[in-house]
Amino acid sequence: MRNTGQQESLEDDAIDAHRAYLQALLAWERTTHEASCPICGSKTMSVEAHKSAIVAAEAHKEACRVRFRDLVDQLGYVPRRDDLALPDERYSPACGSRAN
Ligand SMILES: [Zn+2]
Repeated sequence: MRNTGQQESLEDDAIDAHRAYLQALLAWERTTHEASCPICGSKTMSVEAHKSAIVAAEAHKEACRVRFRDLVDQLGYVPRRDDLALPDERYSPACGSRAN
């Protein structure tokens, strides 16, 4: 039996990892949106720069997903927190459209 302190800190880690994953997912979606949006995209970045930005954002998203998955595996369940909300406004596209 795991002691309660360890269990709680593992749960906190999983929640942090979940939040990081959601943020990485939104950042990736925004980057993908900007690469193809005629309004907010490609004003400051070349096509090549956007491609590598998308690859980097996706790699980060995957790394966050794997970390979250590993922590959930260790815990044995997906921890729930009421304050785990999507930080959507910071990540919504500059043109105001819904991403994807
Ligand atoms: Zn846009």
